[in-house]
Amino acid sequence: MKILLLGATGSIGTSACNCIRRFPDKFRIVGLSANNNMEKLGKLVSEFSPSAICVGDGCDDSFAEAGAFMRVFRGRRGLEEIVEETDFDILLNALVGAVGLRATVAALKRKKRVALANKESLVIGGDLINGLIDKGFGEIVPVDSEHSAILQCMCGENRTAIESIIITASGGPFRDAPLEKLKNATPGDALDHPTWSMGRKITIDSATCMNKGFEVIEAHHLFRLSYDAIRVVIHPQSIIHSMVEFHDGAVMAQMGVPDMELPIQFALSFPHRLPLMGKRLNLAKIKALTFFEPDYERFPCLKLCLDAALTGGTAPAIVNAANEVAVRLFLDERIRYSEIAEIIESALQKHAVDKIDSIESIEQTDSIVRNNLLKRYK
Ligand code: MG
Repeated sequence: MKILLLGATGSIGTSACNCIRRFPDKFRIVGLSANNNMEKLGKLVSEFSPSAICVGDGCDDSFAEAGAFMRVFRGRRGLEEIVEETDFDILLNALVGAVGLRATVAALKRKKRVALANKESLVIGGDLINGLIDKGFGEIVPVDSEHSAILQCMCGENRTAIESIIITASGGPFRDAPLEKLKNATPGDALDHPTWSMGRKITIDSATCMNKGFEVIEAHHLFRLSYDAIRVVIHPQSIIHSMVEFHDGAVMAQMGVPDMELPIQFALSFPHRLPLMGKRLNLAKIKALTFFEPDYERFPCLKLCLDAALTGGTAPAIVNAANEVAVRLFLDERIRYSEIAEIIESALQKHAVDKIDSIESIEQTDSIVRNNLLKRYK
């Protein structure tokens, strides 16, 4: 299988390379992208010798002379072109944010498998993507651990027997913090995730629980379930990665240690399983698995996102764009933690929700919301 890996130097990209190294006879990297970590990309290029790479707009010309033996694409448009013009079997889309949508769509149009870690593709463009899949264009296999768990629980089952799905959330570093303290939580506090080791953006989204809102939308599109059949439960140990409830009352759960290598590898090998010599789950050592209802006062971003999901149209794209800017501002210590939710709420009030009829209409909403906020926080 020829793998095109976008977002190769991030957390998912790094784990994906580990998976691919383990099976050199099964997987081969044919294309890579990195936004700005040229040093790491250089190492991956020497190791995997891809036929194409894509680098960020602002990058130097480190690869200028590589053109003779490797195609070099650049910037946002380059991410789409590398998908359109490289010979591959699976796109592993590990880009962060709305920028990943065009790559997903381009791969589906070529009838390829997309191993999707870029959940924003479905959050902002779910209907568009399902429209393509319904017309016979490609398939999506989730990399997100919760959705991988749901897919694993559904294997061999009749989809019409599914009553609901239950998505677990760790609750992040602020699950038990006093609400008063949360207002002034620092990026350091928010990046200190208790169970998962991930990239910075998604770790902040986990602290605010926005990530779980996005995952509900992602699940709605992936598994074609109505929102009232999708529930979220806080599960601090992150051992049960999600569950499926059937109409006879049976509940299937997929469990494992919190490590992204299994869902990444499963998305590449699906519907087959490959061995993975990683840590093993020892339930006797863990002793207790606990569960709570999510608290919307603690996690206002989750509520905003779920409301936007029900509104539909461009509402999730508004939430996503405002969240991307707000998280950046928070990481740069320009706003307080509590302002993340405030920024998203005011963006939702300010911008009218439209129907989605094309990728351009999503991108237009995205850039209007983004530019508006960037102007305000210049
Ligand atoms: Mg997840």
